[in-house]
Amino acid sequence: MALSFDLSALTRPDLRDLQPYDPHPMPGMIKLDANENPFDFPEEVRSYLWKCFHSESFTRYPDPAAQDLRRELAEYTGVTAENIIAGNGSDELILYLMLAFGTGRRVLIATPTFSMYRIHARIAGAQPVDVPRLPNFALDVDRLLEEAARPEVSMLVICSPNNPTGNAALPADIEALLAGTRALVVVDEAYIEFGGVSCVPLLKRYPNLVILRTLSKAFGLAGLRVGYLLADQPVIRELLKVKQPFNLNDFSQMAALAVLKCRESFFSLVEKILQNKMVLLEGMNEIPGVEVFPGVTNFLLFRTPLPAETVYRRLVDQGILIRNVAGPGLERCLRVTVGTPEENAIFLAKLKLVMEMAE
Ligand SMILES: *Cc1c(COP(=O)(O)O)cnc(C)c1O
Repeated sequence: MALSFDLSALTRPDLRDLQPYDPHPMPGMIKLDANENPFDFPEEVRSYLWKCFHSESFTRYPDPAAQDLRRELAEYTGVTAENIIAGNGSDELILYLMLAFGTGRRVLIATPTFSMYRIHARIAGAQPVDVPRLPNFALDVDRLLEEAARPEVSMLVICSPNNPTGNAALPADIEALLAGTRALVVVDEAYIEFGGVSCVPLLKRYPNLVILRTLSKAFGLAGLRVGYLLADQPVIRELLKVKQPFNLNDFSQMAALAVLKCRESFFSLVEKILQNKMVLLEGMNEIPGVEVFPGVTNFLLFRTPLPAETVYRRLVDQGILIRNVAGPGLERCLRVTVGTPEENAIFLAKLKLVMEMAE
């Protein structure tokens, strides 16, 4: 007789309460929930891409070291290719950081922030520790350093400019963290093309600095999953131990190279998005009850007197998808991505309508 099989006896106790990530796909909506670039690829990028795809055969495994891409990234960022790892989105690189340095250790996360740090810390068997930001969302440097001095802390994760609050960290605060801890300081610069001061110049002086970047936001490549990480070579070598050999497929490597070569076109789009953001911000400020946190990114955090879930649901009923980010420090808050001018105008009209509805 077969032995009775009990899956629950085999699962990891530390992951029992973890829910699979659900991005709530809702086809057919005006999509302002994921901070993507709302504009199609410039024609220049499109034709360059088609040329690449035509000349390539996909029967061989991709370059595991993504050498062409890393050379281009080196030129873009001003560091050497040896200081760069490319990943299947920066999400993958967050997991690698947790696997290489987090497992069995404590990882400090300046909250409220991007949810993936906590999720990947837990998957890797690291213990995520929230260190709340100050009421104005600035880093609580004293508290971070105090927590970092406790045993078993291997990493501090700082998102700057921060998602979902939109503010950038002060360079002096980041430097105080780098100088004041023996742990790694990971700075996620996913939105750096939109605003804030990059930490790249600090790489030369601080071997404990790790910078995460992505092509998913300013460079419009969210669908092809390309991120990268900048760090001192000993850090890179540890990360290479846990890296999947063929993590970045040929298609994505080529597309990433293409958008970087055409980066000036994307910088023009970034300018356009930031201009559209000002119009959106002014429009939102005119709606009674709506309090907007302007930030320096391609999205806006805002608070209303209504429960965030009510605002979220009512907007969904109007065909608009944004993100409910309500939680500790973000009571009644939502986040809207800057869309095209047409999308922003519809969002403004619908938000006004939603705010005028009876409770
Ligand atoms: C969107 C985002 C990323 C990007 O992740 P990818 O996996 O590169 O698409 C990383 N960090 C933050 C804070 C983000 O908001």
